[in-house]
Amino acid sequence: MTDKLTNPTDIARETLKQLAVRRIAPTPERYEELYYEISGAKHKPSGAANAAANALVVELVAALKALPKQTPELTRQIASIEHAAQTKDWISIPPIVMQAVEAQGGQANLTRAWSELIRDLVAQWDIRSPHYSASRKQESLAKVLMNFGNYPNLLNEKLDALVRSWAAGAGGGGDIEVAETPIETAAAEEAKDTKPANAVGADVAAEMNVEDWQRWRELLSKSLRVGICEHLHDYPELTEEATSLAQAAEAVASSQGLEFLNGRLKKFWVLLERSSEREGRVINGLINLLLLLSDNLAAVSGSDEWVQGQVAVIRDLLSHPLSVNRLYDIEAAFKEIVYKQTALKSSLDDAQSSLKSMVSLFIDRLGGMVDSTDDYQHKIDSYAGRIEHAHEIVDLKRVIDELMQDTRVMQLDMTRSRDELLDARAKAEAADHRVIELERELRAVSEKIREDQLTGALNRRGFKESFDTELARMERSGKPLCVSLLDIDNFKKLNDKQGHQAGDDALIHLVAVVKDVLRPTDVIARYGGEEFVVLLPETTLTEAASIMRRVQRELTKRFFLHNNERILITFSAGVTRFAPGETQEAAIERADLAMYEAKKAGKNQVVVTEMPKTA
Ligand code: GH3
Ligand code: MG
Ligand code: MG
Repeated sequence: MTDKLTNPTDIARETLKQLAVRRIAPTPERYEELYYEISGAKHKPSGAANAAANALVVELVAALKALPKQTPELTRQIASIEHAAQTKDWISIPPIVMQAVEAQGGQANLTRAWSELIRDLVAQWDIRSPHYSASRKQESLAKVLMNFGNYPNLLNEKLDALVRSWAAGAGGGGDIEVAETPIETAAAEEAKDTKPANAVGADVAAEMNVEDWQRWRELLSKSLRVGICEHLHDYPELTEEATSLAQAAEAVASSQGLEFLNGRLKKFWVLLERSSEREGRVINGLINLLLLLSDNLAAVSGSDEWVQGQVAVIRDLLSHPLSVNRLYDIEAAFKEIVYKQTALKSSLDDAQSSLKSMVSLFIDRLGGMVDSTDDYQHKIDSYAGRIEHAHEIVDLKRVIDELMQDTRVMQLDMTRSRDELLDARAKAEAADHRVIELERELRAVSEKIREDQLTGALNRRGFKESFDTELARMERSGKPLCVSLLDIDNFKKLNDKQGHQAGDDALIHLVAVVKDVLRPTDVIARYGGEEFVVLLPETTLTEAASIMRRVQRELTKRFFLHNNERILITFSAGVTRFAPGETQEAAIERADLAMYEAKKAGKNQVVVTEMPKTA
């Protein structure tokens, strides 16, 4: 130890310190013993020492009043210390101080000592309470652990509040009512009996009425669960944090809790922002890759007009903001390329190779003829020699017989060769025609991409052309032209439940049914993924709506069958009349808004919207 202390305040301080360091029970006797040991004095405190001790007590009381946990017990203890000071009963002060400090959890920033807290928790856990069932206790405990597990001081405080609320509930005593959540209990503790405990913290409640507050918490929690969690499938850690934040939002009940949640939320938003930036970069990367691919396709296909045409369609699609429907359109365009290319190109290749084999056959035959002509040349030469040298008529006759024989064979050979030659030429010509025909067909295909490959409805390009024609007709005839936009209801669910192929088949089914109900002059086009637009020339708005409703009725009669399961496909539609002078887009947008109204009103219905008074 250092030099002997002389100032009584210092001695008293050191005595307290040593009691703690040496882990000596703070009884009056032990304190007195240690005090004299430290001071080295043999006598009780003098008058000056009394004054110093008084000063120390003032300091002590101020410190105790500043402790975080102000309990009635502490108030009593402070009163006892002040009383002891007045009666100069210095010796009884230190044990009271020690008890007070211990009641604070041994450490000033812990609500309670952990050992004591856990002991109480276990005891309360086992006590049956009409207010707190075992499962409710478990739920509350889980919530506290999840929200504050990483923050020991807060955890200590919240657990303490929880245990005390269980105790109050179990004993049935006190003013504390049963709280909805442990954190609310803590808040209720703070607010004591000024508010019912299942209300929010007094400080927050003071500014906002309880119902509003409850609604805000629900809003925040729902936004997190529905608005955020649902979209974080690829980020399990973020989903976990968002869920935990939603739970914390439901439980928050005091300004302190709110502040804490605010901090966590801020960190979460930063993470979220980063992940969406990453996603944006991935999408842009994919788009660039696709553009590169289509450029490459265009370069490789050289003068192949129809491939160029398709590549242009894809480039056009990519140059606008992407949506699921646009992606489906791009996919459809690519599928079209692949499909047509494989079908037509392979026929073209067949025709070209058969032309080639015809030509080589032709050359073979030609060569054969030349060969056999050479053969005959030799034979004739030899006959000529033999005739020259024939001395007898018999010899001559033999030569003539042989010559006749050979000439007949030669004639036969020649005829056969000529026939084969003609045949080969005819085949070569036919193959050549086929090649020309197929090339023409290929060109026609690129011009003809007016149809949606999957459903056979018109595609956007085809629709635009039809719309142009019908508009011109409308302007000439003055008869009404109506347009309807329909969107299949809950199609994503159908895809998710039955698979993408079933989704595709459902689209085909829908178009077939629509086409059956429509008149030959009406037009249906695929406007995007599961959205279709119907053009109804020479039709009033009322008639148009009733046609679309007829389609809906027909769909309820003609089920879509998938794996022998009957699936009802419904759609929501908006119908409007085209106003003279307005653009196609304006009319379709109006129909789209009406369709949206139909969705909002519960789906599976047709909403009619009048054309604007002035277009
Ligand atoms: P709502 O009733 O509000 O219209 O809901 P929904 O599920 O129909 O609408 P949403 O726009 O959320 O989903 C449309 C889905 O349609 C998205 C996409 O998966 C699917 N889809 C679009 N085009 C095709 C396609 O060509 N084939 C298949 N199988 N599914 C498609
Ligand atoms: Mg849609
Ligand atoms: Mg839909």
